[in-house]
Amino acid sequence: MKAVTILGATGSVGTSALDVIERHPERFRVHALTAQSNVDGLADLAVRFGPEVVVIGDVSLEGRLREALRERGARARVAGGRDALVDVARAPQVDAVLAAIVGAAGLVPTLAAAEAGKRLMLANKEAIVSAGALLMAAVRRGGAELLPVDSEHNAIHQCLAGVREAERDGARLVLTASGGPFRGRLDLDTVTPDEACAHPNWVMGRKISVDSATLMNKGLEVIEASWLFNMPVERIDVVIHPQSVIHSMVEFPDGSVLAQMGTPDMRTPLAYALAWPERVASGAQRLDFARLGELTFEAPDLQRFPCLGFAYDALRHGRAASAVLNAANEVAVQAFLEGRLRFTGIAATIQRVLDAFDPEPPSGIDEVLEIDRRAREVAAGMLPNRGPAPQ
Ligand code: NAD
Ligand code: MG
Repeated sequence: MKAVTILGATGSVGTSALDVIERHPERFRVHALTAQSNVDGLADLAVRFGPEVVVIGDVSLEGRLREALRERGARARVAGGRDALVDVARAPQVDAVLAAIVGAAGLVPTLAAAEAGKRLMLANKEAIVSAGALLMAAVRRGGAELLPVDSEHNAIHQCLAGVREAERDGARLVLTASGGPFRGRLDLDTVTPDEACAHPNWVMGRKISVDSATLMNKGLEVIEASWLFNMPVERIDVVIHPQSVIHSMVEFPDGSVLAQMGTPDMRTPLAYALAWPERVASGAQRLDFARLGELTFEAPDLQRFPCLGFAYDALRHGRAASAVLNAANEVAVQAFLEGRLRFTGIAATIQRVLDAFDPEPPSGIDEVLEIDRRAREVAAGMLPNRGPAPQ
């Protein structure tokens, strides 16, 4: 029986993981569930899964969460704030931690799980983008088992399972990207937040949906892949594959390409990460090859979607560029979602921040957090000083 902590339990990834866990009560039990501010959602999950602890990120909501649990007759212990997130990520009775908080806000508890030697099921790509070297060092030091949940990296993990170290020399990674909702759209200036969040293949949180629309999501994933698989930037490719059936591939020097396929459903990589090295049912639909139709591929358009290029540049530049890129993106995406920035302003803002702010590489977590904070300040100062963007 594995005891699991879910950081970001009320989100898209968190609830998909709980759906898998609910199918296997003999294998998994929930130790802790966390959310930032969704008190009712968290209390409902506490009734369904009976965790020992529930943590609300926003400490001012602790009282309301206690009340909500009382109303529902749930008995979990209540805690609030970042220290409480860290506590449930490294609690001795916990075997596995799902890092499914969105944004660099998830970095500190994710690192704590790594340092404590847990099975770390990583969805929170912003954590590894901001602090890749530190996170990988913490995984090694703590003896953690790092299992990628992001579908592309999970696919590559699957393709590399059973591949000997010597075979990896000269291998290339090919990350697939759906291309997002605007692949064929010409006028990107008038895109609204709701249009950007209407992803053709995946239902996800709003931040990652916008990242998919700008292709920044794929850029963050290139950086994530380079850390997870210790792969130099020149050996990571991106190909647009609108059907999202092939989740990513590994190419070997002899010309062989291994791909992992499946219907687009996050429960597949989540079940893999939860049960590895075994396999369990996830609830995902089987791939029906007879009805699949065409699988198509094309090169990404870096003119129209410059964010992917920024991420490659940040990875090549090194230093703290990935942390700055991530922070600037978080600020710009938030401004776009709030109607304060046009869609095309996201890339423009990130570029200006990267040009203006190039700090030294961080040597510890405090320095990463400081770089993140300052990059957010620089980005906020570059947002247009006006009301809602015209829709
Ligand atoms: P979401 O917005 O649906 O959920 C985010 C969760 O994090 C919620 O439970 C929320 O309460 C919590 N949270 C938000 N801000 C927080 C903060 N400041 N402190 C503590 N908790 C906070 O997001 P999502 O789509 O589930 O994505 C979560 C992460 O997984 C992201 O990093 C995303 O890039 C990654 N990811 C998501 C998908 C997907 O299909 N949704 C796929 C691959 C990777
Ligand atoms: Mg992904």
